[in-house]
Order: sequence, then C-alpha cells, then structure tokens
Amino acid sequence: MTADAQTFTAARAHARRSAVLATIDALVGWDERTKMPLRAGGWRAEQAAELAAIVHRHRTDPHQGERLAALAAGPLAAGGSPEEQATIRLLKHDFDKQARRPPRLVEELARTTVEAQQAWVTARAASSWSDLEPWIERVFALKREQAACQRPDLDPYDALLDDYEPGGRWRAIAPRFAELRERIVPLVQACAAATRRPDDRLLTERPFPIAAQRAFVREVAARIGFDFDRGRLDSTDHPFCTSLGPDDCRITTRWDERFLPTALYGVLHEAGHGLYDQGLRPEWYGLPPGEAASLGIHESQSRLWENLVGRSRSFWEWCFPLAKQAFPGALADASADRLHQALLVVRPSFIRVEADEVTYNLHIMLRFDLERAVLQGELPVADLPAAWDQRFQQDFGLRPPNAAAGVLQDIHWSAGLIGYFPTYTLGNLYAAQLMEAAGRRLGDLDGQFAAGDFASLLGWLRSEIHAAGRMLESDPLVERATGLPVSADWLAASLRRRYGPAHGL
Ligand code: ZN
Repeated sequence: MTADAQTFTAARAHARRSAVLATIDALVGWDERTKMPLRAGGWRAEQAAELAAIVHRHRTDPHQGERLAALAAGPLAAGGSPEEQATIRLLKHDFDKQARRPPRLVEELARTTVEAQQAWVTARAASSWSDLEPWIERVFALKREQAACQRPDLDPYDALLDDYEPGGRWRAIAPRFAELRERIVPLVQACAAATRRPDDRLLTERPFPIAAQRAFVREVAARIGFDFDRGRLDSTDHPFCTSLGPDDCRITTRWDERFLPTALYGVLHEAGHGLYDQGLRPEWYGLPPGEAASLGIHESQSRLWENLVGRSRSFWEWCFPLAKQAFPGALADASADRLHQALLVVRPSFIRVEADEVTYNLHIMLRFDLERAVLQGELPVADLPAAWDQRFQQDFGLRPPNAAAGVLQDIHWSAGLIGYFPTYTLGNLYAAQLMEAAGRRLGDLDGQFAAGDFASLLGWLRSEIHAAGRMLESDPLVERATGLPVSADWLAASLRRRYGPAHGL
C-alpha cells in the first residue's frame, strides 16, 4: 500500500469513528424526544453536552487535519475513484470549516441558542415579541460572525446556507422563488375566493381510532418500501426522522383521533426521509459517498412520497380499500374519490406547520426574504414583526392577529437555524421536477400506484439520487436525474394541475 493509500485508510477510519460517536449523540436525542420521562431533562442536558463536546473534539482532531491536508496534495485527490476523490475533497471542506470557527464562538452560540429557545417558548406563549427581540438580535449577530469565520469567501447568507444546502447560492434561489411566488399567489387567492370548494368533512367529523391508525400507517409505510427490519416508528410531539446507523433509521409521528392526515401524512413524510437514509450506501455510512446530498434533497424525498404519491388519486385507488377496512365506522359510506377530494383544500392560514401544500411555499419564501434582509443588514431585527405582517397581508390576504400567529411561530431563528428555511421549498421544487422525470422514464406510474406497486419509483430514486450520496451537489444531482435544468416550472404547474380543478379553476 502506498503512503497516500495508508493515509486515506486512516482518514476514512477516523471519519467513521466520528460517525459512530455522532450516532450515539443522535440516539440520546431520539430517546429525549420519544421516551424520556418528563423530569429527566436536567441530566439529559448534561449527557448531551458531554457527547457534543466529544464529537466536536473528535471532528476537529488536528491529526485528521494533517491527514486531509496531505491527501489533498496527494495522488488520490485527483486520480482516485470518484468515491475517494469526493471523500478527500468533502472531508477536508468540512474539517476546514469547523476549524475556522473559533471555540469561543462555538461555545457562545451553543449557550445563546439554548437560552434563546427557552425565551422563545415563553415569548410565544405570551405572544410578546419584545421578550424575544434581544435574543434574536444576539443570535443574528453571532451567526453573522460565524458566516464571516467559516466561509470568508462567500456572501454571509451563502456561508450559512452552505451548512444545509452545500453549493446553494441565494442569488440562484431568489429568482426561482420569485417565479414560484408570482404563480402561487394568484392560485391561492383564486382558491380562497372560489365558490366551489372541496368537501373535507369526511376527514374532520368522525373519529379514526388511534389503535387502527397505528396498524394502518405502518402497513402503508411498509408498502412504499420502508424496511422495518432496519428501522422503527415511534410516537412524538414534533415528528422527525433520524439515522442511528446504516441499518437503524428511526421515524416518528403524532396521532390525532379526529384527523387521520396528521399521522398518515406525517408518516409518509418521515418514511420518505427514511427511504433516503435506507437507500444510502452502507459501506460508505458517515462518509460523503454515503451521506445525504443536502437538506433540500432530503426534503425532496419526503415531499415526493407525502404529496406527489400520497395525495394522488391513483394512490387512493389502492389505499382506500385498506383504509375502509381499518376505519369501517368513519369510512362506511365514503369513496376513494370523496376521500381524495377531501385532501385538496387550499386555505390561507397563519401557521406554517398546518399549511396545505400550496400555501406552504409562501410561508417559506416570506421567511427566506426576511432572514436574508436581516442577516445582510437591510432590515433591523426590531422591524421584523411589521415586515412579517405586511408581507403576509400581500401574499395571503390576511393579517396575523398577534405575534404568536406571525413572527413568533417558528423556533428556527432562536435555534440559530438561519439559511435553513429555503431548503423546504427547494425540496418541493426538486420533488416536482423528479416526479415529472420519473413519469417520463418509468411509464404508467399511476397504474402502478393504483395496484399498490411503488417499487419502480423507489428503484429509480435509489439509482438516480440515493446511490450518489453527497458526491454531487443538489442542482447537478437533480439535473443529472431529470435531464433538465432546475426550475420552479414543474412545481408551479403541478400545484395548479392538482389543486385548481378541485376549486373549479
Ligand atoms: Zn422533512
């Protein structure tokens, strides 16, 4: 073995140990959000802080930095396999970024965001912006500092976006979002004014027993391909998906006896994330060829299964008999058509996490524009509530009644997640473009869904998206899979086609 190959083996082993440690940290986090007794929080916070420090120390080990510097100048960096080249390039990119963050800043951000999130809980409960404002001011200042340290070569917003959407640039995203907004705002306003509206009483007026929901959603998740021998489904308050190892993917959901879609679409969403995690190459687990490309691509997988598959008429062709068997009381006199129609209501509302598929993107684009303006110094933090309400009025035709239903509703800014929001709409955009291409390549997808057959779609996503790991950035990955440049067209057209007719448009 050459010296370069030996160094590569050592660097790869070190990165794999980092992944082992990070997944222990993730296991503790999963337990906290699914199983932990109410009063165990204090000790858990200490456990989590110790683990985070160990992971950080391991990830910034100077010996690993020396190995990566040597590899970057060695023969494998340019002449190795695509996996080796990507591993060297991206491990070095991640290492250098971490190393450029001064420990004082890392520590201060960690402490400030914990306190800011606590302040957010009380401020939101009291609907009092002024209680949170100084914290948001502080978080934005620290994130501006982080941006300047970690990627001094980039615009501050792009420097933060890089943590969630590697290669993403706001100047490329903003025109796509503007085009989408131009087409969605009129659609939302036309739906709101429509005299014909889908009837959703079927889903809101009768109980769907939780025990039956559990068995039903599990069967649906298994049918679309989620492997329960390599994953679990548990209950939580704020659903998420987390990977604890190559064969251990945890998805979660919450239950509402009065509204089946909460659990069903929660599970389809998280199982979509899970299918991606389960489709990454296990031999490269924790290394760039076996990691997700970006949060936007991750979200494209969840939204594709949740919305483009799970809300399609053909999906309900297969799923309705199963649902009727599970909920004979609620669905006795229903039909696949009526159930499908009940899912197509477009209704402007204040809260992002309760929004329908069409208005959802307006919620995201508002946050993207405001957080960028604040970070770039164009909008003072103190003016956020007024700017929020004004934009909300413009896009939704509504004015938030209070700060809790407006600027205070999300935890993201308090948690230091700035540059994170756009990944949700990027996910929708990528999902629509991928689905269109899948239809072109795979023939009669509707016929397959109606027969409960999702294997060819999953197989295509596995080979086009999952197998690439992080070796390509989001845009080139989607362009390679679809043969077309990334565009908002597919999403705008798909929303119009699926939701317009139900509102007589
Ligand atoms: Zn998601």
